[in-house]
Amino acid sequence: MKRILITGAAGFLGSHLCDRFIGEGFYVIGMDNFITGDKKNLEHLQEHPNFEFIEHDVTEFITIEGDLDYILHFASPASPIDYLKIPIQTLKVGSLGTHNLLGLAKAKKARILIASTSEVYGDPLVHPQREDYYGNVNTIGPRGVYDEAKRFQESITMAYHRFHGLETRIVRIFNTYGPRMRLNDGRVIPAFMGQALRGEDLTVFGDGSQTRSFCYVDDQVEGIYRLLFSDYIEPVNIGNPHEITIKDFAEEIIKLTGTSQKIIYKDLPVNDPLQRQPDISLAKKLLNWQPKIEREEGMRLTYDYFKSLSQDELYKSEH
Ligand code: NAD
Ligand code: UDP
Repeated sequence: MKRILITGAAGFLGSHLCDRFIGEGFYVIGMDNFITGDKKNLEHLQEHPNFEFIEHDVTEFITIEGDLDYILHFASPASPIDYLKIPIQTLKVGSLGTHNLLGLAKAKKARILIASTSEVYGDPLVHPQREDYYGNVNTIGPRGVYDEAKRFQESITMAYHRFHGLETRIVRIFNTYGPRMRLNDGRVIPAFMGQALRGEDLTVFGDGSQTRSFCYVDDQVEGIYRLLFSDYIEPVNIGNPHEITIKDFAEEIIKLTGTSQKIIYKDLPVNDPLQRQPDISLAKKLLNWQPKIEREEGMRLTYDYFKSLSQDELYKSEH
């Protein structure tokens, strides 16, 4: 049985990846320190014979008993609210954490896939974003802690590949959503859906003309799975190219949820990218992958999940 370590396992993407790899017959070791994750996301795997969980901060030295065939490094705060609140931890998990995991991969002769992000393109001047675009990041802006940690992560990963011959893969993930996102993580989908469920107005930042392109989690997991087993070393965009302005998106959510609330406008966060859309030609060619789930269906599935949460969870707010 192949053994895989998944960091960030108690988070949104990490927990879905644990499910996928267990489903494919792997022995999965989940690792997390719960800084932005939730034990609840892994509850259903607790008794599974092919799953074990290690509570650990990956910025500290990592010890794993026995062999490892694969590592997926997904630990990192991912929502702007989270990484603005814990900027140093964000820089550390992308840099020191990645260094530890690359060292572990080298020691175990394991293949490692690193979760990078569309944020390496910053506020992009090229649209849509192809992998050969170098990006437009403000290193010293508030979002720089995340963007630069991820850019460093890509650099050190390529250095381990080139210098040590390590088997590495890099996925550049574009805005992905679905069940198990934290309702109060501040990202736009949980924010709008939470507001609709609580009977609050929907907060659009800026004038809402900025765009995003939202990918459903199952499509994202499929892309990551295929990339891990491909031969391609350099970064690959995985996301859904279906682009929408945030204002139009808020209107879609109002329609979907049937809320009688309206849109209100708040300040645009500093360096909030004005446009974002993945060019997925490379993933299509290399991995024969493209997203299958339309936004309408994905949003319905996600809203069903948020509706199923308790009142306590709906009103719990750390921010
Ligand atoms: P998430 O916050 O739900 O999950 C991240 C997990 O990492 C959490 O469970 C958190 O507790 C854990 N973690 C953070 N620092 C840690 C540390 N030092 N040691 C151990 N565990 C730690 O976020 P997510 O959306 O699931 O994102 C997962 C990964 O995917 C991140 O690396 C993120 O940068 C990347 N990503 C996600 C998106 C997206 O749209 N969801 C987009 C681009 C990139
Ligand atoms: N946004 C918004 N209202 C909210 C939360 C977010 O208008 O309550 C906007 C945010 O300014 C950004 C977009 O929605 O332009 C996506 O934000 P998110 O935090 O989900 O992720 P980002 O793509 O910025 O990392």
